Amino acid sequence: MKALVKRQAGPGFTLEDVPEPRIRDDEVLIRVKRAGVCGTDVHIYEWDDWAKGRIKPPIVVGHEFAGEVVEVGKLVTDVRSGDRVTAEGHIVDGRCLLCRTGNAHVCPYTKIIGVDRDGCFAEFISMPATNVWHLDDNVSYDIGGIHDPMGNAFHTALTADIPGSSVLVTGCGPIGLFAIGICKAAGASRIIASDVNATRLELATVMGAHDVVRPQEAEAVVKQQTGGLGVDVVLEMSGVPSAIHQAFALVRVGGKVQMLGIPAKPMEVNFATEVIFKGITIYGVVGRRMYDTWHVMTQFLRSGRFDPAPVITHRFPLEQFDDAINAIKSGDAGKVIFEIS
Ligand code: NAD
Ligand code: ZN
Repeated sequence: MKALVKRQAGPGFTLEDVPEPRIRDDEVLIRVKRAGVCGTDVHIYEWDDWAKGRIKPPIVVGHEFAGEVVEVGKLVTDVRSGDRVTAEGHIVDGRCLLCRTGNAHVCPYTKIIGVDRDGCFAEFISMPATNVWHLDDNVSYDIGGIHDPMGNAFHTALTADIPGSSVLVTGCGPIGLFAIGICKAAGASRIIASDVNATRLELATVMGAHDVVRPQEAEAVVKQQTGGLGVDVVLEMSGVPSAIHQAFALVRVGGKVQMLGIPAKPMEVNFATEVIFKGITIYGVVGRRMYDTWHVMTQFLRSGRFDPAPVITHRFPLEQFDDAINAIKSGDAGKVIFEIS
């Protein structure tokens, strides 16, 4: 089969002919239809310090996808050939304390497809049946293929109290953009979105932000919209240190800061003034909760009140992987996807 491979320790990917994956008795084989390209794939492509420490080439890359089941193992009872599915890309051990107490999203033994084992930028992928998530008939493979980052946004937003709240979203990358649509659907009273990029602010308006601002304008708009109090909730979706400080500064006393964006290196925080004396609650987001995030995501899509489609701005065949990576690096794309079969 055709697959995008990280062949050796160094920059780039190669498109190769590799053997189709074989499945174990508790796994299913999926023909990949659509796959989302993500910042993590760019790190692996560029071979930065994180990639050097984590990735063991050769490996098929890619972790966001949807497709059609073509084969199921002997022990699989609830997935059939022909089923339209996506999957949770974090494969957990299911046995540790975290897994057994409802916190599998922080399982210390997590293996991620396209990072720790072969991924989905390929014609076929094998997945444990427990990780498979069925798509409703009216959910397209395009949308199925972006359930992973959409799930990050659902996890971030819905672990805060969004109904009626004023919300600041710092960072309107694909995940921030999904989060804006989710907050809108969940009944936020005011959504203020900030980014340094004009194209992304336009998309933020399409997704339902009431105010779109540059970071330097955020303070004035937050004060004006909240009677000087600050917002009830900040969704920090940039990972940029100045935006993280701004999140602490612009959340109201007693408010919530949901942290999804990952700073590239350690940063200094004045815990006394930025966190403690403001009495705020900080929530660190890892992936998606298994499987309450997936369930709620399905219900939002079913309701028709949340439409992520406008976030997808670019689509490429696997052969154009350089163009896909460059579209992300330009900073002007929404979600970039591969059309595989
Ligand atoms: P992205 O890089 O496309 O989005 C970040 C956005 O922040 C960009 O649009 C950028 O222009 C904007 N930005 C830069 N400086 C800013 C500032 N000062 N104020 C406001 N916005 C600013 O990334 P993405 O794919 O949407 O992911 C968002 C973040 O979440 C990244 O840091 C990513 O690494 C992280 N992430 C975390 C998890 C998790 O499980 N915690 C999962 C996936 C991604
Ligand atoms: Zn575990």
